[in-house]
Amino acid sequence: MTALAFAAGLLGRCDTAAGNDLQRFQYTEVHMGMQARIVLYAPSESAALEAARAAFRRIGSLDAALSDYRPTSELMRLCARAGEGPVRVSGDLMRVLRRSLELARRTDGAFDPTCGPVVELWRRARREGRLPSTEAVREALGRTGWTRVTLYPERSAVSLSSRGMKLDLGGIAKGYACDAALRELLRCGTPRALVEIGGDLVVGSAPPGRAGWSIVIPSARRQDDLYLCLTDAAVSTSGDTEQYVEIDGKRYSHIVDPRTGIGLTTRVAVSVIARRGEISDGLSTAISVLGAVRGRALAARYPEVQVYIRSQTD
Ligand code: ADP
Ligand code: MG
Repeated sequence: MTALAFAAGLLGRCDTAAGNDLQRFQYTEVHMGMQARIVLYAPSESAALEAARAAFRRIGSLDAALSDYRPTSELMRLCARAGEGPVRVSGDLMRVLRRSLELARRTDGAFDPTCGPVVELWRRARREGRLPSTEAVREALGRTGWTRVTLYPERSAVSLSSRGMKLDLGGIAKGYACDAALRELLRCGTPRALVEIGGDLVVGSAPPGRAGWSIVIPSARRQDDLYLCLTDAAVSTSGDTEQYVEIDGKRYSHIVDPRTGIGLTTRVAVSVIARRGEISDGLSTAISVLGAVRGRALAARYPEVQVYIRSQTD
């Protein structure tokens, strides 16, 4: 299906009635190691600023909870207690873990929030410019496995069964944070808004006088650029355009195959459109690992999801 056909299906009537008194504002801040961007329409600069501040604050607090880079994050404090039984966690962490494990189950572990030890190896490979040893990969894989995570929702608790486990929510947290930020903007009375963090983007109501938000997702080949017009939707793109290591002419992505412990070498960009970022983000990472056929079958299990898979080589 073409982007245009899909956009026509997703959009409601062209919205031209209200909103003539609204102005466009744009703000950026660095969060989750990326540039986070908010575009919104508001009646005044003070209203816009107040809304954007609330949304960035929410992203900041999610970063403090879900980051695997910060040793003091709630996530890393949970990992430090791996093997010690159930640990109480926040509602946000519980929800992201629930989504992640659901995806792990549905993908038979191709999406795996316990892949931290393996991801760490590949981060080092990227810094040092050389591949991890077979032994190091085997050791790291031995500390992964999504079935070792148990959730106790009624007690708001999580237990990790073995010491040395390291959770990594990098494949889903940004989409979740975009959703949460957009909800803040709605709460502040500015629903005509867009939130973007790296390759994850969510939009609310359309800009005044427009049918939707015009979004272009560039590709290695210009003819593959994706043109979208969206309202109340999320788009996530996973691929190796930014984070990868090239060794002996082979490019290894920062997305790893949890079955082999090796960075992906398939050069594709996967874009997923869904209602919410927590779905589009997780799915785009999962489909990158699964490949087109199994990936599309997975996407079919989620309502209102569209998948675009484009080659990254020109
Ligand atoms: P980006 O971070 O570029 O937006 P993704 O959403 O695809 O891209 O997430 C990639 C991140 O997901 C990696 O940096 C790592 O933290 C984590 N990750 C890597 N491989 C997997 C995997 N197989 N399952 C779950 N998370 C993964
Ligand atoms: Mg993702």
